[in-house]
Amino acid sequence: MKIIMLGAPGAGKGTHASRISEKYGIPHISTGDIFRENIKAGTELGKKAKSYMDAGELVPDELTCDLVVDRIHQEDALKGYVLDGFPRTIPQAEALTKALAASGEKIDCAIEIHLADEKIIDRMAGRRVCASCGATYHIVNIPPKKEGICDNCGGELELRKDDAPETVKKRLDVYHEQTAPLIEYYEKEGILHVIDGAIGLEPAFAEICKLLDGE
Ligand code: AMP
Repeated sequence: MKIIMLGAPGAGKGTHASRISEKYGIPHISTGDIFRENIKAGTELGKKAKSYMDAGELVPDELTCDLVVDRIHQEDALKGYVLDGFPRTIPQAEALTKALAASGEKIDCAIEIHLADEKIIDRMAGRRVCASCGATYHIVNIPPKKEGICDNCGGELELRKDDAPETVKKRLDVYHEQTAPLIEYYEKEGILHVIDGAIGLEPAFAEICKLLDGE
């Protein structure tokens, strides 16, 4: 099962991707997480990606595509994977289609989590991320058991730098300009499914499972 999650930043792609990964036993591959890990580890890639990320802009395609193509060909991804945050531009989608076609593969399903911009701005303000393991919470919708502390690893929860309101506005502009055209791209491929992100986490996840179970 090869799945792509689409949707604006903050629509809930990452949360659903992580649940899909757990339920269906396939890796959750998030380019945002890979970049953040590289920034933390002080790698060359991290240094290059940081300035774009802090400004709410996209990291250039040439730093992104090879990284994903390498990752999806690793051992743990043989059965499938859920891609979260990639592709984000038409050239990235084309590079992915081409890389998969070279080994006779294709994406099975693209899931768009649809949410209006006003709701996204509200949600991002309450989003908190674990500084150690990257798990995501929301102070109202998905609160941790203990305020400010990660349920998984006991790490400290923080507001992501690029979740600051000015950067969120920039990221939404970038989304509408560069990433939203992917919805049409995957619709034309006949594999697009739209899930209403406003119905709440559990009902939306139930819809996704129905879809993936072919019900
Ligand atoms: P995310 O965690 O998916 O919201 O990603 C955070 C940031 O990482 C984005 O705002 C971009 O700067 C960068 N990023 C993540 N994935 C990609 C991608 N596929 N292409 C370009 N930049 C990306």
